[in-house]
Amino acid sequence: MTETDKPAASARPCPICGKPAVARFKPFCSSRCADIDLGRWLKGGYVIPGEPVDEAEEAPPPRDRED
Ligand SMILES: [Zn+2]
Repeated sequence: MTETDKPAASARPCPICGKPAVARFKPFCSSRCADIDLGRWLKGGYVIPGEPVDEAEEAPPPRDRED
């Protein structure tokens, strides 16, 4: 008596298509939806809009001592 393939009543719906999530592909309903979500995540992770990569070094403190 296994209920692993049975969608739990408390399970949240698949974030991709809204179908009941399956335990095996949690939180998605299928591997396809999991792939779609992963693709979106990767795409969004590559580009960070509005965040310029500024490699400017911190300006050293002005020398205030006699040499
Ligand atoms: Zn789905």
